[in-house]
Amino acid sequence: RDLAAVDERVCGCRACPRLVAWREEVAEVKRAAFRDQVYWGRPIPGMGPADARIAVVGLAPAAHGGNRTGRIFTGDRSGDWIFAALWRAGLANQPTSVSRDDGLEVHDVRIVSAVRCAPPDNAPTPAERDTCSPWLARELQLLPRLRVAVVLGGFGWSALLPVLAAAGYVLPRPRPRFGHGVEVELVGPDGPLTLLGSYHVSQQNTFTGRLTEPMLDAVLQRAVALAAG
Ligand code: SF4
Repeated sequence: RDLAAVDERVCGCRACPRLVAWREEVAEVKRAAFRDQVYWGRPIPGMGPADARIAVVGLAPAAHGGNRTGRIFTGDRSGDWIFAALWRAGLANQPTSVSRDDGLEVHDVRIVSAVRCAPPDNAPTPAERDTCSPWLARELQLLPRLRVAVVLGGFGWSALLPVLAAAGYVLPRPRPRFGHGVEVELVGPDGPLTLLGSYHVSQQNTFTGRLTEPMLDAVLQRAVALAAG
């Protein structure tokens, strides 16, 4: 299977009853500002080419962001942050992400989320994370050049580590804890992989200054350097 086939299949997933109900309810009720739009209301596939050396692992789609536009991190403030940063790092052709047909392209990076459906209060449960993890595992298997994973937040970290362990990566004991700026080198069946932790680009972090643009830029610049090395 290739990435396009996985993307197509994930869009039909209904494995999490609570998330299916929420994503579809939001798509029907809508936010007043988007009343004239047709919401996507389904799982959100990853974005980026199969030859990517860098993965960015987020949390889950936003109810009126990805769940509305149908593209990951598109149409909300979190997306504004991550795509502007990817553009500054030379990994995107434009700094904005508005809709699925806005011309945005990314290079050398595959952007995924730990959970593919918008959750209530932006908070998937651990069970939903685990139910969705086979999609993450399949996607990572289809990135043969992957060398760096930028993990946005502790939830993505908790999703990714078991997936990597199951795929044959050797994890340190005790398992490394998430933190901003944490860097962990792993060895896997297909070569090395470096994990880089970053605070998530959620508004709780960006509005409060917990995550600043220079902090995010530093992580992405490190990812680019590691991927090139
Ligand atoms: Fe399927 Fe993942 Fe959505 Fe659950 S969160 S319904 S596993 S795509």
